[in-house]
Amino acid sequence: MTDRSPSPPIRIVVLGGGTAGWMAACLFAHEWPQARVTVIESPDIGIIGVGEGSTPQLRALFAKLGIAEADWMPAANATYKVGIAFTGWSERPGYGRYFHPFASAVDLHTEPQFHASARARRTGRDVPAHPDRFFLNSRLAERGFVPLAPDNFPFEVGYGYHFDAHLVGQVLARRAAELGVEHRQDRVVEVAVGEDGQVSHLLTDGGEAIAGDLFVDASGFRSVIAQAALGGKFLPFASNLFNDRAVVMPTPNGDELNPYTTATALSAGWVWHIPLTSRAGNGYVYSSRYIDPDHAETELRRHLGTLDDPTPARHLEMKVGRVERSWTGNCLAIGLAQGFIEPLEATALHIVQATVEGFIQAYADGGFTPQHRDVFNRTIARRYEGIRDYIVCHYRLNRRTDTQYWRDAATLADLSDDLKAVMTCWFTGGDLPAEVHRLDIARYYAPMSWGCLLAGYGTFPADEKLRPAPPPADLASLDRLLDGCLLNFRSHAQALGSLRASA
Ligand SMILES: Cc1cc2nc3c(=O)[nH]c(=O)nc-3n(C[C@H](O)[C@H](O)[C@H](O)COP(=O)(O)OP(=O)(O)OC[C@H]3O[C@@H](n4cnc5c(N)ncnc54)[C@H](O)[C@@H]3O)c2cc1C
Repeated sequence: MTDRSPSPPIRIVVLGGGTAGWMAACLFAHEWPQARVTVIESPDIGIIGVGEGSTPQLRALFAKLGIAEADWMPAANATYKVGIAFTGWSERPGYGRYFHPFASAVDLHTEPQFHASARARRTGRDVPAHPDRFFLNSRLAERGFVPLAPDNFPFEVGYGYHFDAHLVGQVLARRAAELGVEHRQDRVVEVAVGEDGQVSHLLTDGGEAIAGDLFVDASGFRSVIAQAALGGKFLPFASNLFNDRAVVMPTPNGDELNPYTTATALSAGWVWHIPLTSRAGNGYVYSSRYIDPDHAETELRRHLGTLDDPTPARHLEMKVGRVERSWTGNCLAIGLAQGFIEPLEATALHIVQATVEGFIQAYADGGFTPQHRDVFNRTIARRYEGIRDYIVCHYRLNRRTDTQYWRDAATLADLSDDLKAVMTCWFTGGDLPAEVHRLDIARYYAPMSWGCLLAGYGTFPADEKLRPAPPPADLASLDRLLDGCLLNFRSHAQALGSLRASA
């Protein structure tokens, strides 16, 4: 890949066959059909195998690749996801649970009423401002409804998915094969880098040299090319995100097929619960500074009711932070090789997609030269930081006092200027949506998301300080609108059954 190159790189080598590697291979093969794309992965190393929740962005990926839900969802034991339920993050009465919904178009009519109500309560008026009342997807979650409406429903409904990471990788690998991607199974033992800093080829255990014009590092936390061979700097987020481990174990899902993820706070972190059609995925994300792996596993098992279950748990270490530059020379780092923000909002695959699509756009805009590399790298870095700030806010504003972990989290001092500005706006009665737009951070998390988090924890003046006031919004008509919308939806479990039958 040089400045003289007039066309997309002809030979693209993707190192890694995890979800990130296959996503990238499909996107490159789809966007640049003249390129020869090779995926090389080591079956001995395997994939991380977690990463079971998505944002709505994944719908766009499957749509672009022409993979219908009926074709991939049953094959990946997938379910629909309308958002995330947070439980136990606040001790404030009435705020033990809140829902972070994915946005639907009807929310445009209800969101202003939510912000007005929350602002009224922040400024001392006793009006209802719990976020769950105001958004369509929160109500879909409460009823266990699938986010699929009949064609005559006039509003677009936002949703993502839950899936088995291994199986979704196989779905993408099959699509990649249809797009002409070559698949090799071998371990890369050396990365050959020329004097110009460009990667020339990868050497495998089997003695092969795999040459390429562009190398995509999707090798997971090992970051074999971007960090290990090219020495790319890793910027840790440990000063404000201190969870560094996870312990994971599946459970049977019984009859319950919630169309949402649950994130429950425990003593030194939180546990995800993700319903798949075949099982439930569970994982306790915690900080090893506050609890050791054995105690974390016991706490997870107690939480799940599996203390006597012989199913082994998997323990994982997490490297939280990002590479300084995602694109260096002729290497693009993606997925865990590029960085990782802990999985509280399930954003990792979203970043993979944004990185690959952003790279393809930047490279094409520069006439297939690295002309826009610095701008691209800054854009990706800013995305990481925008997402990180929203995650940090969950910890900094937690309303728990029962363990040292939560007390320390509430005093986190290393906050970005953007996060400080959002918090200041909230606590001084400012206009939250205006502030989020002014800071230009709505593209990472929109005002609705910030408002749900802040109001969902009950970060309002103490009840005894509130003065009676009429609600600033007509809540009866809001309820009528949203309840009327609900008449268009049906049960999640039933819809998945129909999808399976039609597959
Ligand atoms: C606890 C936890 C929970 C998560 N939850 C979510 C979530 O809910 N939602 C979400 O979007 N993301 C989540 N993630 C992130 C998600 O798991 C990853 O982003 C996703 O799986 C992609 O991983 P990957 O492909 O980058 O790496 P991996 O799956 O680790 O794949 C790495 C690949 O590189 C290959 N490889 C490595 N070294 C070599 C070598 N020398 N030679 C040949 N091949 C090699 C391996 O064989 C493998 O194929 C979570 C992560 C963790 C740790």
